[in-house]
Amino acid sequence: MGTWYQVKVVTDRRPSSAQQSALGERILNTLDEIDRSMSTYREDSLVSRFNRAEPATEIELDAATAQVVALALEISEQTGGAFDVTVGPLVRAWGFGPDPTQGPPSADQLGELRVRVGWRHLELEGKGLSKRVAGLEIDLSAIAKGFAVDSVLAAVTGFELGETQLLGAMVEVGGEVRATGLNREGRAWRIAIESPSVGSRRIHRVVELADLAIATSGDYRNFYEVEGRRYSHIIDPETAEPVTHRTASVSVIHPECAAADAYATALLVMGAEHGLDWARARNLPVSFLVYNDEGGVDELATAAMAERLGIEVDQNGRPLGRAATPAA
Ligand code: AMP
Ligand code: MG
Repeated sequence: MGTWYQVKVVTDRRPSSAQQSALGERILNTLDEIDRSMSTYREDSLVSRFNRAEPATEIELDAATAQVVALALEISEQTGGAFDVTVGPLVRAWGFGPDPTQGPPSADQLGELRVRVGWRHLELEGKGLSKRVAGLEIDLSAIAKGFAVDSVLAAVTGFELGETQLLGAMVEVGGEVRATGLNREGRAWRIAIESPSVGSRRIHRVVELADLAIATSGDYRNFYEVEGRRYSHIIDPETAEPVTHRTASVSVIHPECAAADAYATALLVMGAEHGLDWARARNLPVSFLVYNDEGGVDELATAAMAERLGIEVDQNGRPLGRAATPAA
């Protein structure tokens, strides 16, 4: 997947070295399997094979990929198409694919590309996936990291440790996190939400995760600027253009990391104003960081997220009282 990962496992006693290496191998295999199926960087992956397929040709997916595509389609429907795994050709055209010298595309080019983009052109029946238009491709990068987190966590919690008891685990893949049980100190896992700054990593807030996942989407690390205009790697499927509003990042808490991952991307497309309303209506814990005119960021959160963060927000989602935790 071209990303990094981290796994923490807490047990009541030290597992044997054989157990440790078996668990390590299981984690690697889990990640490798996902990569072999879902990567668009590998020509031999299942997804790459689907992307090369002709219309109406059914490609038989494995169970994991079918599950991810099914969830992706469900979230496309829920988000009114803000989430759309078929935007890959647009992502490339705007210069966020393997060739960074591409883009910005001309209006004609965009017109041609739009014909082969759209989740409604996908058909999933059981594990069989086909496309209704030529040139349609899928790109699972906005949901696969979260799915990898869920899968690795399931691999860890399902691992046979014999006498040794698992007390807790935390898995992070490319910034998406899910935790279960307790940490080494016997307390709930504490996960940092980063503050959006291009060059450095600073903590904005800390959230406790008890059997939950958190995913963050942001454009503060993956963007480019041409003549003062900022191009984000997130595409608004409605306009076929990178999102241009001032949302720096969105964080979403959900029991499943795959869903949190997809929702975070969708909410970045929606932007803070519409996104907050959408999340409120579903009682989803969501927080936005939005660039303000003073060169800083403002925070906006749903009540469900405020509760998790241990803060209070006004009707507009603005935190009351003390400002966000300053960086250490
Ligand atoms: P994430 O970091 O999870 O927000 O995923 C970002 C990646 O998802 C981008 O680099 C694109 O490959 C892809 N992407 C861009 N826009 C969308 C969209 N509207 N829906 C789904 N995936 C997208
Ligand atoms: Mg995502």
